Amino acid sequence: MARGDPFQEAARLLAGRRNAVALTGAGISVESGIPAFRGTHGLWEKFPPMEYATIGAFMRQPEKAWRMLSELLSLCGGASPNAAHAGLVELESRGVLRAVITQNVDGLHQAAGSRRVIEYHGNMKELVCISCWKHFPTRERWKAGEDAPRCECGEVLKPNIVLFGEPIPWIPQERAEEEARTCGVLLVIGTSAQVAPACDIPRIAKEAGAAVVEINPEETMLTGSVTDVYLPGKASEVVGRVLGILPPAGTPEN
Ligand code: NAD
Repeated sequence: MARGDPFQEAARLLAGRRNAVALTGAGISVESGIPAFRGTHGLWEKFPPMEYATIGAFMRQPEKAWRMLSELLSLCGGASPNAAHAGLVELESRGVLRAVITQNVDGLHQAAGSRRVIEYHGNMKELVCISCWKHFPTRERWKAGEDAPRCECGEVLKPNIVLFGEPIPWIPQERAEEEARTCGVLLVIGTSAQVAPACDIPRIAKEAGAAVVEINPEETMLTGSVTDVYLPGKASEVVGRVLGILPPAGTPEN
């Protein structure tokens, strides 16, 4: 772990190396009003994951799984990007950040204006039929408070997201690993790093020579091992503070 002022260190790395990639998790959207899964008031308190969020649970009892999915959809539908999402757009426009890999399904990075977003776990914008694979825009088929929506063929629809037990689609997984292998700095924001295989991305970046900068109010499994620079605090405050001291892009690291 780096010594000295970690905020200055992070700003120097970002500006000096210029090709940063962000890996974001549920924590970046907490300040937009979408609770994370883990932690106090986390969604898991109300909806234990093994009962609601595995593909097996969905296939056995889709109506039950849809109680959790409906709540997540309502939360995502009412949310707007916060200052952390906007800060990543600013880093992109200053030529410092080149892509965002997100585990989130809320679409807030795109809503904020980020241009290169890899949605590792899919998104809530679309529903897909578990029988005939037809896709629908979510707003066409789902209304808050209704039962599990159905396809024209009569089968149940599932949001186009990755539930526990489902594989990561090939394209986002390949693209994310490629970004991790080739970035100079990986900015890890608001993830507990407990969900596989997304939790491997920081290690892939580190082994390929990137510096790992972690933003989280709490230490994670990465903090004492993979992380080079740990910035404690809420995403919006920390990203704002780093932006405030960011030297012009291209300034040497040391
Ligand atoms: P997680 O719930 O496991 O961990 C959230 C992390 O965010 C914790 O480490 C917590 O300390 C941190 N955090 C809390 N408030 C924060 C803040 N203001 N700023 C920065 N960090 C903060 O989430 P995860 O690691 O992303 O993994 C869980 C899975 O849950 C992911 O697959 C994700 O797709 C899914 N999820 C997504 C959303 C969403 O799309 N917004 C919401 C809930 C869960």
